[in-house]
Amino acid sequence: MDFEMNEERRMLMDTLRKFVAKECTADFARRIDETESFPHELYRKMADLGFMGLPFPSKYGGLDGSTIDEGIIIEELSKASAAIGLTYFLSTCFGGKSLEYFGTDRQRQTLLPNLISGDLMFSLALTEPGGGTDILGSLRTSATKKDGRYFVNGQKTFITGAHVADYLITAVRTRTNPIKKSDGISVLIIDAKSPGIDIRPLKKLGIRATGSNEIFFNNVDVPEENLMGEEHRGWHQLTNTLNNERVALAAVSLGIGQAAFDYAYKYALEREAFSRPIGSFQAIQNYLVEAATELEMARLITYKAAWLQSHHRKCAKETAMAKLAASEAGFKVALAGMRILGGYGYMMEYDMQRFFRDAELFLVAPITNEMIKNFVALEMGLPRSY
Ligand SMILES: Cc1cc2nc3c(=O)[nH]c(=O)nc-3n(C[C@H](O)[C@H](O)[C@H](O)COP(=O)(O)OP(=O)(O)OC[C@H]3O[C@@H](n4cnc5c(N)ncnc54)[C@H](O)[C@@H]3O)c2cc1C
Repeated sequence: MDFEMNEERRMLMDTLRKFVAKECTADFARRIDETESFPHELYRKMADLGFMGLPFPSKYGGLDGSTIDEGIIIEELSKASAAIGLTYFLSTCFGGKSLEYFGTDRQRQTLLPNLISGDLMFSLALTEPGGGTDILGSLRTSATKKDGRYFVNGQKTFITGAHVADYLITAVRTRTNPIKKSDGISVLIIDAKSPGIDIRPLKKLGIRATGSNEIFFNNVDVPEENLMGEEHRGWHQLTNTLNNERVALAAVSLGIGQAAFDYAYKYALEREAFSRPIGSFQAIQNYLVEAATELEMARLITYKAAWLQSHHRKCAKETAMAKLAASEAGFKVALAGMRILGGYGYMMEYDMQRFFRDAELFLVAPITNEMIKNFVALEMGLPRSY
């Protein structure tokens, strides 16, 4: 077992840290959160430096990196701002990885190079108002085929980045009466500017710079060649993307948790009570030690899951466990940070409240931790609970 980073990854980390220190300052992170504005310019800079292409094959203009590299980038960006980490994630995972895993050759050749250059952005539209946990039972958005075109009708909700995306990777029902709920679903690449699409922003608690949206599809006309992979097999094809999503979002949680830890650690050494730094009290030290340990454990399982996916091994259980462990750790550390900061944790001028708001999301998205436990139980061979 080798825990040493190779030379290439050390260089990546070095480049990333310099980039983050220069471009993703605390002021910048605060500003995009407060103004709820998508960091377009920063996105362009990330693409220009080759970050978007890192986890993709060189034949499409990428740098032949892996899920591990994707995790490293996302964790590092998320230390500065979870919204920035997510900005990177949306296109690389939802767009790029879906294209790589189950797009057609033509789709990969036309879309991946433009994604890598930063010219195209993507979102994933799965969740519907009827419920995200029973996603298959609630999926009603339909695509009816006529003369080589699909006509899409329905509604999606909570879709992150849809307001800035060029394409929406959208799950639709192409069979009305499937034998199994997971059959008869297809995935379409839908041009977000198509007539009949209405995208409405939602107000939310955290990760505000990457907005989330409702999307209404009213007879949206999609050419047949925008079908990804096979018709009716969309859900099975999405599995790899969803495993990648769990690792990548575990990396976001790690980034938030680390940022909260670093902030609280510094504060504990500066803030005084009873004429000494609060960091000299055992109660505060215990918070910090437990936080560091939780983060370290979550990081190990996250990068193990990333390693498994990079090596094309079975990884459904491990990616789910990584999402569970990292999201709980990220939130727990942010909560400890709030305690360490006392009243100042509650003040908007201190960043801890942002870490706390941002970390909370990953307890429920992209899948709730209640549901992910059901899923891990199933992977462990226990009877199905849902
Ligand atoms: C800010 C934000 C961004 C998002 N971005 C996207 C996106 O980009 N694309 C996308 O497709 N979706 C997105 N989502 C949707 C997200 O994946 C869903 O919110 C999530 O899956 C939970 O679904 P729900 O909110 O409908 O909760 P519900 O399904 O209504 O669940 C409510 C509660 O019931 C519990 N529950 C339900 N069934 C069970 C069970 N069998 N066992 C135990 N507990 C159960 C849940 O754990 C939860 O506590 C986003 C959500 C948010 C909040």
